[in-house]
Amino acid sequence: MLRIERIEPYPLFYRIPKPYGDANGIKAYRTSYLIRVITSEGIEGWGESSDYLPVLHLGFQERIIPYLIGKPFSERKTLLRTIHRWHPRAAAALSMAFTEIEAVRSGVSICELWGGCFHQRVPVYASFQSYSEEEDWQQRSLRAVEQAVSEGFSRLKLKIGGKSIAEDQRHINRVQGLLEQTACLALDANESYDAAAALEWNALFAAWPNMMWLEEPIPMHQVNELALLRRRMSIPIGGGEHLRAAADFIPLLTQQALDIITPDPAHLNSIEEYQHALRLARDFGLRASPHAFDGALARLYALFAQACLEPWNKMEPAQIEPVEWDMMDNPFNRLIPLSPSGGEITLPQGPGIGAAIDREILEHYRWDGRSY
Ligand code: MG
Repeated sequence: MLRIERIEPYPLFYRIPKPYGDANGIKAYRTSYLIRVITSEGIEGWGESSDYLPVLHLGFQERIIPYLIGKPFSERKTLLRTIHRWHPRAAAALSMAFTEIEAVRSGVSICELWGGCFHQRVPVYASFQSYSEEEDWQQRSLRAVEQAVSEGFSRLKLKIGGKSIAEDQRHINRVQGLLEQTACLALDANESYDAAAALEWNALFAAWPNMMWLEEPIPMHQVNELALLRRRMSIPIGGGEHLRAAADFIPLLTQQALDIITPDPAHLNSIEEYQHALRLARDFGLRASPHAFDGALARLYALFAQACLEPWNKMEPAQIEPVEWDMMDNPFNRLIPLSPSGGEITLPQGPGIGAAIDREILEHYRWDGRSY
């Protein structure tokens, strides 16, 4: 009988020399938490979780790993249900690892395990944390945007909501001048406005034909206000990166509060739950553009799921919504050797995730266990 033999945790930490951020504040560090699950047959699967490292690490070491060692792989659903009660984001990582083990055992890729893909390439959008502590943050942001466009990105997302509306509008106006409508733009307010403040952007949005969406302009639990805003706003409204269960999207969908859902595979309870959220969006006739800022492996799963997602548009069946691509200083972006070309990712083809995790990065950035 196939059993779970070993689980290796890899807590990773990087202190950012030049901090950056969004409307939630400036980030001083980035982290990642990878796990490698090895079975009695020697098959391995990787998973990734995103949370406060001390809590995740203690949870895995003291409780989750001892509980799982020796358990039959065939009981993984029951096991995940238990872990989910303890730590939902740990369960998300384990669900990825179990999925990869299943695929490798069958000698197929994740996409093949899921029934095959509609798309071999998936577009990504360049995602920026526009704010920094420097006086010339706007200048720095413009240079980063220019660089991304020169690298072939045709879709970008910038932050708003962390400065006054006037200052943010000056910044975005300058960005738009630079893009000259050759690239599409999304703006993310990280829930920092109320509906009236969000509507102060509407005249600009109406004048800009390259807007993809406005993300989380107001708190996502204010469903009525979001629905009102969606009816009045001249561009699509996106959101939902922090939701944990597919069912959490139901109020937003039934009350017509969103045009685009932005679920995150590391934040939902499992990779199956994540795919459930994507299917819900399609059932409601909506788009899904994954949030994937908290880890390269979770992002790869978002890319796989996007490749296997039915097109939203019958007229252009090759079209699929873009996945977020972290453009900021973050070594964990390189944990998996994948980089966009022409704003698209060609999916790896081999069994499992079809790519090797960079062991040097795992060693170099291993968290020393001190709090931060
Ligand atoms: Mg966001």
